[in-house]
Amino acid sequence: MKTDYDVIVAGGGMAGLITASAIGYYSKKGAKVLVIDRNPPEEAGKKTNNGWTCGDATSLNSLRFLENNIGIKYESPELEHPVKGVLVYSPDHKTKVRFEGEGYILNRKLLPQRQVRDAKSFGVEFWFNTSAERLTAENGYITGVTGRKEDGTAFRVTSKMVVDATGSSSVLRKFLPIESKIEKDLDMDDIEATGRYILDFDQGIPDETYFTPDYCLIHLDQYIAPAGYAWVFPKGKTRVNIGLGVSKSGLARRNKKFKLNDNLQSLIDKYVKDNTAIKNPRQSAGPAFDGNSKGNWQVPVRRHNDCMVANGFAVVGDAAWLPRPLDAGGIGPSMYASVILGKVVVRALEANDLSEQGLWGYNVEYMTTHGYQMASFEVLRRYLQTLTNEQINYGMKHFLSEEDVRAISERRHPDFNRVQMMNPLLLMRALSEYDLAKGLRYTAKKSQTLVEHNLAYPTSPGGFADWKKVLLREIDETTEKFKPIEVAG
Ligand SMILES: Cc1cc2nc3c(=O)[nH]c(=O)nc-3n(C[C@H](O)[C@H](O)[C@H](O)COP(=O)(O)OP(=O)(O)OC[C@H]3O[C@@H](n4cnc5c(N)ncnc54)[C@H](O)[C@@H]3O)c2cc1C
Repeated sequence: MKTDYDVIVAGGGMAGLITASAIGYYSKKGAKVLVIDRNPPEEAGKKTNNGWTCGDATSLNSLRFLENNIGIKYESPELEHPVKGVLVYSPDHKTKVRFEGEGYILNRKLLPQRQVRDAKSFGVEFWFNTSAERLTAENGYITGVTGRKEDGTAFRVTSKMVVDATGSSSVLRKFLPIESKIEKDLDMDDIEATGRYILDFDQGIPDETYFTPDYCLIHLDQYIAPAGYAWVFPKGKTRVNIGLGVSKSGLARRNKKFKLNDNLQSLIDKYVKDNTAIKNPRQSAGPAFDGNSKGNWQVPVRRHNDCMVANGFAVVGDAAWLPRPLDAGGIGPSMYASVILGKVVVRALEANDLSEQGLWGYNVEYMTTHGYQMASFEVLRRYLQTLTNEQINYGMKHFLSEEDVRAISERRHPDFNRVQMMNPLLLMRALSEYDLAKGLRYTAKKSQTLVEHNLAYPTSPGGFADWKKVLLREIDETTEKFKPIEVAG
């Protein structure tokens, strides 16, 4: 059947723009690709009305992956500030864990301008000011999208396949009109409400636990950022991306416990106010920041969708729930998945097979190269969300080894070998933290099972149902075990 395009990419954000470029790259500009984005061109990649809301941090590894695979190397101004790694502080600020690993704080407002230019250089076409509203389908295949232009006129455009890269609020995936293995909805507890400011400031009291231009700081604190974390990411010597994320139910439990009525914004405002290294904060201004210095948005923190393809369709980025469950980092996963997807799509176009089977390689390659840890991080995240500040203080001080820190830096699940090596008698002695040690041991053991299971991801759709049954058995057990404790009113 003749179609308007080979591929339509709905959503021109981090994932959509890289996927479009990757298809252009692997097809040597041969594929006819259209990106549809609801923003005007000068606001490409804007997530919501309140900006390109993000912590802006990404690792050098993911940037290198892009360069090594599709030859795209970002520079200034889209790379705004280099960092040497991440420092995570316990709630009492007494334990600091250093995760070495170079990275960059991006300028998310300027980066899409560069990414659009890259995509255009690969022959990609753009419809800006255009919203994709629904997928069209025929004979069990996705055949295109319908939507609305800026002036309200409806449109319909056809393609051999559609990539949904519309971010965490995707309606395309939610209303997928064909039978598929893709899950359409996410549990509320698998979404973090997050928000941040980009601020210029005068130096306050020098204190590395509150600000350093060399490291991204993360503060674990169930009072400040219940069931999430707070961050201070440097964008220069006197400029910062500062914010926090919470789970809605975690915040409700915390408010109930302390008889408070905080919301996400009031928590962020208190967090900024209490930072003694930051004096006279004001929202950053100028062309690189206007419209992007204050914003809240949501991040999915579950494992990625267990299946990301259907006949004539694929999901990527936040629409596929790619952010890492532990730290909500979605930029690196988007880069990895978008490049893999681009490669698989071109292979499928060449083979003239855009069926679920023809696109299945995307599921397999993403899972076995990058995604296999995500389910275990989901379990660890659920467990950490149940801990009190006292338990986090104790656990970071006594139970986290250098090897665990290395594992987390390399995006592996930690073994918690200090806890593993304690025999039950010793553990009993540390009775006060017996449950904590037992919980950590359990997550480490479960992590091994989940990683092995994910590395054995089925190589074709036929094996998926059995594979998923086992996965859900494991996940459901942990969800039940780590149910947050309700606080009596
Ligand atoms: C507060 C916050 C802090 C974060 N911090 C970090 C961090 O420090 N490091 C990190 O790695 N990750 C971080 N993340 C996650 C990261 O920002 C996302 O994972 C990443 O932006 C996902 O890219 P995406 O392209 O999938 O989605 P998005 O960036 O949301 O892009 C989606 C695009 O699709 C467009 N669109 C949406 N719907 C439609 C439609 N119907 N029709 C047409 N266009 C549409 C949008 O306008 C947008 O241009 C953070 C997220 C938040 C909210």
